[in-house]
Amino acid sequence: MRVRRLEINGFKSFADKTVVDFPLGMCAVVGPNGCGKSNVVDSIRWVLGEQSPKQLRGHSREDVIFNGSTGRRPLGVAEVSLVFENTGDITHQSFADLAEIMVTRRLYRSGESEYLINKIPCRLKDIQQLLMDTGLGNRSYAIIEQGRVAAFIEAKPEERRLWVEEAAGITRYKNQKKLSLRK
Ligand code: ATP
Ligand code: MG
Repeated sequence: MRVRRLEINGFKSFADKTVVDFPLGMCAVVGPNGCGKSNVVDSIRWVLGEQSPKQLRGHSREDVIFNGSTGRRPLGVAEVSLVFENTGDITHQSFADLAEIMVTRRLYRSGESEYLINKIPCRLKDIQQLLMDTGLGNRSYAIIEQGRVAAFIEAKPEERRLWVEEAAGITRYKNQKKLSLRK
């Protein structure tokens, strides 16, 4: 699975629709302080289901919606889409054959929120299941922010094991086992 494109609309400082392409190879986001580099990373975390406003450097859920600037009124909705190229590691039955998969999250100022896969409404759980074991899952190690390396070193063995399990690709099976034992 490879991230191919990010579309940001109304999220944090991105009042206008902004499309970021990630061509093969190494990509870097550069720019002056405050131009929105970290907001790009926040938007990726958010579309992948991050629920904690603190992790997104905010106080409340709605803080991710563009809240206005000089001469620009606040917006009522934030939307982010992340497009993946299927490199053959998608095991989810419904999506394994697709060349591209788009995951979308939308949040209205009223508090209403939506998740979509390829423009079809779904549950956050569906997105989590799709991404499980790809490294972008719940215990994602695809985004290594400041302090994460230290957190890994200082983590309890049980916590560290969860990361290793995600990297080894067995989170999906552990999850299925847990669900079937519950039935
Ligand atoms: P640095 O180089 O200092 O790390 P950066 O490029 O990472 O900077 P960001 O932290 O991504 O910058 O962006 C900060 C800007 O985003 C600030 O100007 C802030 O006002 C703006 N911002 C954050 N949330 C919103 C929002 N909801 N609406 C409008 N602007 C916002
Ligand atoms: Mg920054």
